[in-house]
Amino acid sequence: MIHIENRNQCCGCSACADACPHGAIRMEPDGMGFRYPAVDPDWCVDCGICDRVCAFRPADEPAGKAYAIRFPEYLDRSQSGGLGYALMRKAVCAGMVVYGAATGPDFVVRHVRVTTEEGLAPLRLTKYVQSDMTGVPGQVLSDLKAGRKVLFTGTPCQCAGVGSLAGRYRKDLLLVDMACHGVPAPYVWRDYLKYVEKREGEPLTGALFRDPSLGWHGAKEKLCFASKSQVKGDYAHLYFQRYMMRPSCLACPFASLARPSDLTMADCWGVEKALPGFADDNRGCSLLLVSTEAGRAFADHFDEAPQVREVDIRAFLQPNFQTPTVAHKYAPRFERLYLRHGFPFVLRNFGKDSWNHRIAEKIVKFKKKWL
Ligand SMILES: Cc1cc2nc3c(=O)[nH]c(=O)nc-3n(C[C@H](O)[C@H](O)[C@H](O)COP(=O)(O)OP(=O)(O)OC[C@H]3O[C@@H](n4cnc5c(N)ncnc54)[C@H](O)[C@@H]3O)c2cc1C
Ligand code: SF4
Ligand code: SF4
Ligand code: SF4
Repeated sequence: MIHIENRNQCCGCSACADACPHGAIRMEPDGMGFRYPAVDPDWCVDCGICDRVCAFRPADEPAGKAYAIRFPEYLDRSQSGGLGYALMRKAVCAGMVVYGAATGPDFVVRHVRVTTEEGLAPLRLTKYVQSDMTGVPGQVLSDLKAGRKVLFTGTPCQCAGVGSLAGRYRKDLLLVDMACHGVPAPYVWRDYLKYVEKREGEPLTGALFRDPSLGWHGAKEKLCFASKSQVKGDYAHLYFQRYMMRPSCLACPFASLARPSDLTMADCWGVEKALPGFADDNRGCSLLLVSTEAGRAFADHFDEAPQVREVDIRAFLQPNFQTPTVAHKYAPRFERLYLRHGFPFVLRNFGKDSWNHRIAEKIVKFKKKWL
């Protein structure tokens, strides 16, 4: 039976829980909101199915061709070049079921099932928090068994888990993953939003992890209230400083060009230099990697006319195609203090306006100038 000895061995994809024929596994959150399987020994018959389904190990599909691609009409509500939306839209228009990460009215990010073009709106844009996958791999399997074709988008580890549970139905499942820097703690996002509501004295009406109006290179969250909206960088700072990553992200087996999916989307960082004139307007550009024949067949023709150019992947090898993210050296301290004292305390001590951060920045500047 599944036994997690070290938290970095489990990505929380939920595949084992949905695979257990005896319903012996529940996904339970830890203090940061990261979910892990908990086996009820009274129900477990030690059949080993959960261990066999777990796919948190290196994948074996080498990425084939790579493309710089962007869909001008989708750029205003996309994180990079609109590729994610173009793929999902093509799938629902072809009668496929689509699964992706959506922010709910309670601001919790969960994977949801969509069958209409209108239903895709909440799936657009990147959510920098781990999405809740409870029950989703099983739902995908039910769709496949019912004869539906499915497109699943998610982090590489989520795709690996869903693909593994699909088993012999995998041929009707198209997996689309992404270059992945890692997922931060759901409870930190939840507590951050509670904190800003208290500070502003009114409830949030909307929250975006990255405000697209800041341009492709801008990375700050947007908070909307009934009377105003604010662009802040507090949460983005904690994420990009790598204080609150899921432990499995620091030992990620998918930080490579061997992909667990048919297609991979990423930001095409460096495109301005590599392809001058192709995407110089800071509005975004996607990188598409094609790993399987099914992926190639699906991504061959879009209804909309994208700007597209085949590229050499070696010119776009960003860090997480090569190696897992390394946590901030004070990440363990961040977690300890967050669990003990709560969000406002860690914001004061690790936030972008904290003394610790200001001093660290000054030291970096000093070193750059004098050493
Ligand atoms: C946690 C995280 C880390 C990332 N790290 C990198 C990185 O290091 N380098 C890089 O190039 N790109 C990274 N990306 C991917 C990138 O930010 C874009 O999401 C991707 O290029 C698609 O953008 P788009 O414009 O094509 O589509 P969009 O319209 O922005 O589509 C977003 C798609 O991403 C999925 N998605 C959004 N949030 C989540 C989530 N939390 N969990 C699972 N799926 C989600 C949605 O289901 C949807 O299909 C990351 C994305 C996430 C969610
Ligand atoms: S060993 Fe079998 S019964 Fe036990 S938790 Fe795993 S799948 Fe369920
Ligand atoms: S299947 Fe997913 S949730 Fe279960 S142990 Fe493996 S990685 Fe964790
Ligand atoms: S970094 Fe790896 S383990 Fe973490 S969410 Fe991404 S694919 Fe999963």
